[in-house]
Amino acid sequence: MARKLIVGNWKMNGTLVSNTRLLREIRDDSTIQASQIDAAVCVPFLHVPEAQVILMDSALRLGVQDISAFRDGAFTGEISADMAGEFGVQYAVVGHSERRIYHGETPKTVGEKALRAIEAGITPVVCVGETQQERESGCARETVEIQLVAALDSLTTDQARGLVLAYEPVWAIGTGRSASAQQAQEMHGFLREVLRSRAESLASVTILYGGSVKPSTAAELFAQDDIDGALVGGASLEAAQFLDIVHLAASPAVAPM
Ligand code: PEP
Repeated sequence: MARKLIVGNWKMNGTLVSNTRLLREIRDDSTIQASQIDAAVCVPFLHVPEAQVILMDSALRLGVQDISAFRDGAFTGEISADMAGEFGVQYAVVGHSERRIYHGETPKTVGEKALRAIEAGITPVVCVGETQQERESGCARETVEIQLVAALDSLTTDQARGLVLAYEPVWAIGTGRSASAQQAQEMHGFLREVLRSRAESLASVTILYGGSVKPSTAAELFAQDDIDGALVGGASLEAAQFLDIVHLAASPAVAPM
């Protein structure tokens, strides 16, 4: 079992003042400072320059919540992966269900975003997940496979080895209703098989679970064979909750032997 990765997704929350305070509290945690865990926070774009300064020489990594599918040009309002990279951004969430639903992002667009991130030296956190309706109609696996394969189709095998995958069932995001550890493990195992069927070397891609992760549910999730960490939304907005999750991921009970 590899070292776990915990990524916070702050979404469009906070102010410069409150997010600066939150970032400092997370940064100063001794488990993070001692690099006993891989952890990142994906902040709003406008807070990136301040966050870069706060995280200078810190083990806590900086991420963003999206990037453009294009390298540069006439794309009003977009931020390119290269621009994010100039500010020390190391992770970019791509294909979050909120982007797919509210901004019409297609699996192909998400694949292009993943490629842009990798070209810029940024690790894309590619989100896949089924809706409640898709789960109830028995096509959850098919849905996430289509999303994953579209992302893989945009990348060479070497590039794909550098991505992080996040299984985020849409029905679990922001609802307080996490997938059970068994449901999550079942889907993670399936995603790992899809990766392995592409290339044996892709079987070791990091697969995060996201969807209402809280300290009370994290330990059981982290004990599953194919859950390599978490993408945390709501619970990443409070330092104590986020750090509890970080500590559970770093604890010997789930650490590699
Ligand atoms: C997310 O938005 O990626 C997420 C997992 O949110 P939450 O933890 O609030 O469900």
